[in-house]
Amino acid sequence: MFAATLDTGIEYLKGVGPKRAELLQKELGIFTCEDLLNHFPFRYIDRTRFYKIRELDPELPYVQLLGRITEKKIVGDKYKRRLVAQLTDDTGAVELVWFQGLKWVDDNLLLGKVYVVFGKPSVFNGGFSFSHPELENYPRPATITGNLSLQPVYHSTEKLKKAFLDSKGLQKLQMLVLEQLLKEIRETMPPYILDRYKLPGKREAILNIHFPQDIEALKQAERRLKFEELFFLQLQMLYTKQQRERKFKGHLFNLVGERVNAFYNDILPFELTGAQKRVVREIRADTQRGAQMNRLVQGDVGSGKTAVALMSMLLAADNGYQACMMAPTEILARQHYESVTGLLKGRLARVEVLTGSTSKKERTLLHRDLESGAVDMLIGTHALIEDKVKFRNLGMVIIDEQHRFGVEQRARLWRKNVVPPHILVMTATPIPRTLAMTLYGDLDVSVIDELPAGRKPVETRHLYEGQRLRMFGFMREEIAKGRQVYIVYPLIRESEKLDLLHLEAGIEQLSYQFPRPEYQISIVHGKMSNADKQYEMQRFVEGRSQIMVATTVIEVGVNVPNASVMIIENAERFGLSQLHQLRGRVGRGAEQSFCILMSGNNLTREGRLRLETMVRTNNGFEISEIDLQLRGPGDISGTQQSGVLELKVADLAKDQLILQEARNMVLGLLKEDPSLELPQHSLLRTYLSKRHSGIAFDKIS
Ligand code: ADP
Ligand code: MG
Repeated sequence: MFAATLDTGIEYLKGVGPKRAELLQKELGIFTCEDLLNHFPFRYIDRTRFYKIRELDPELPYVQLLGRITEKKIVGDKYKRRLVAQLTDDTGAVELVWFQGLKWVDDNLLLGKVYVVFGKPSVFNGGFSFSHPELENYPRPATITGNLSLQPVYHSTEKLKKAFLDSKGLQKLQMLVLEQLLKEIRETMPPYILDRYKLPGKREAILNIHFPQDIEALKQAERRLKFEELFFLQLQMLYTKQQRERKFKGHLFNLVGERVNAFYNDILPFELTGAQKRVVREIRADTQRGAQMNRLVQGDVGSGKTAVALMSMLLAADNGYQACMMAPTEILARQHYESVTGLLKGRLARVEVLTGSTSKKERTLLHRDLESGAVDMLIGTHALIEDKVKFRNLGMVIIDEQHRFGVEQRARLWRKNVVPPHILVMTATPIPRTLAMTLYGDLDVSVIDELPAGRKPVETRHLYEGQRLRMFGFMREEIAKGRQVYIVYPLIRESEKLDLLHLEAGIEQLSYQFPRPEYQISIVHGKMSNADKQYEMQRFVEGRSQIMVATTVIEVGVNVPNASVMIIENAERFGLSQLHQLRGRVGRGAEQSFCILMSGNNLTREGRLRLETMVRTNNGFEISEIDLQLRGPGDISGTQQSGVLELKVADLAKDQLILQEARNMVLGLLKEDPSLELPQHSLLRTYLSKRHSGIAFDKIS
């Protein structure tokens, strides 16, 4: 036999050949022997347990029996031949049946011999029957791959199954490759790290992930592979971050000058919270150290991120730089513009807004004033990324709700100055710590974990459809007190038509319950033109309407302090973080606010848990943790464009501890050996030099 290596193409493996190799490539992305070894089982069947025949039950999944073949015969005519055998243990007997490969089975299944039989029991003729069970000699022979007490189960596909590459077929290939190539597997982690965390070597881990010696060995193998995966992800991110900080000196904001001071001392109508002050200090430190800032500010809705953003922009202005702030939607951009100009009271800086609906004429003027430096702050949507938008000296970029912007868009903002501007990303979606470390591992993270004083937490109730009249009554009471009410309907694409009907029916009922002219209802949904939306929102903002019916367009950003009730229809259909975002629209004024979750009676376990969580807590971070546990990282916003979903073994919902260890390890070693020059780190350097070209930041320079 020729000497295979890990790089050997899968087609050269015994029993594969070009056809199946092509299938493996297409279906599973397996090109080489190494790729095959990296196709890990997704579960294991416990084969440590032997069932007694008496214990069998048709409900059981696959079971394992140990018994003697006490009868064997081929029955049926030449069209329907089958081999039927009887397996007997000390508690009874079952039937084993084969319809295919009779000759082979007949030759290999010996009467009077003991076998391990593995299969799914079904009831037949008053007894149990196994069709095409797996057979193993007993005692099992010792092999490199152990005694298969835990049998690996691999993902396969229909096409592969037709080519006999089902889980079992893949298992055989894995065994073949491991027998030939186990010795070739090289260590990827520095040994001192393995020692420190008591992790098995790569070879042992790969062997045990496919063919675990026992549960303990499997656990260790998993831990090792998860650690490795998270370690390299962190290494890549933190190394890039460090390189970026060395490469981009960053604009120096040495002055806290008249604008910041005047704003803080004379204009700001409130005292910043402790958390706001801390974050402003962090931003000041970042912008004074001679490196580009890349910071994420996480803060629940209403935590006062706008004031922090404005302070940062004023800091830029004090140092002779321009600033811009980008929001994902037109409504939000305008809202930010209103908030910022409102806070500034027309003083200290010239602020402009740029969105898709800015007229050509206004644009031309704006472009001119940006280039001359007459505009200090520009607030807008994606429109401000366009190449035509040039700044005289952009020093600070604020991105609101970053997860809606791609890496490429971020990069385009970087290019708006010779030296890239400082970047402050703000998100109102609290992200679990593990996710933040992975999604934003290359950013420094600040948390505004304190709400402005005097805010009363929103009271949340869950009502069923049958209690709808109570809800209307409550609305009337609140409106009578002069408050305003939001009612949000889900509008989810797949069932859009139905949702629209639902929305229309809801509106009809509302108009009946809340007739004009006493009551005014604003309606905003995705199918309306921007101008109509603006108009309707404005009516609500100005208090000319008391009720705002909306689909999720108001999810982010709207700020109407007088609105004190948020009603969410079909609340069970919203995700937790979305519910939390919506609830954040109220509780912004001094009044006690309420959130009412309306649902039908039939709730799934998960739906119920979501609503219960909302009723129980207002803490966004706690909610995001539960969201992560419930849905996994794939459904948490922001993950789609990150590497998180490509994780093979690690699970961010479950492996928080390992992630923390891996990250600490990387932080420590980069501190000690920033360029990875120490001999024990040469492996890591090799890894990075292979991978580094794929990193988005490189596109920027
Ligand atoms: P978000 O973090 O959701 O963007 P905002 O910046 O919109 O929050 O702030 C919400 C409201 O709280 C605004 O009306 C803002 O003026 C007010 N606010 C912000 N910081 C404070 C503070 N320290 N004290 C009192 N009110 C504040
Ligand atoms: Mg905001």
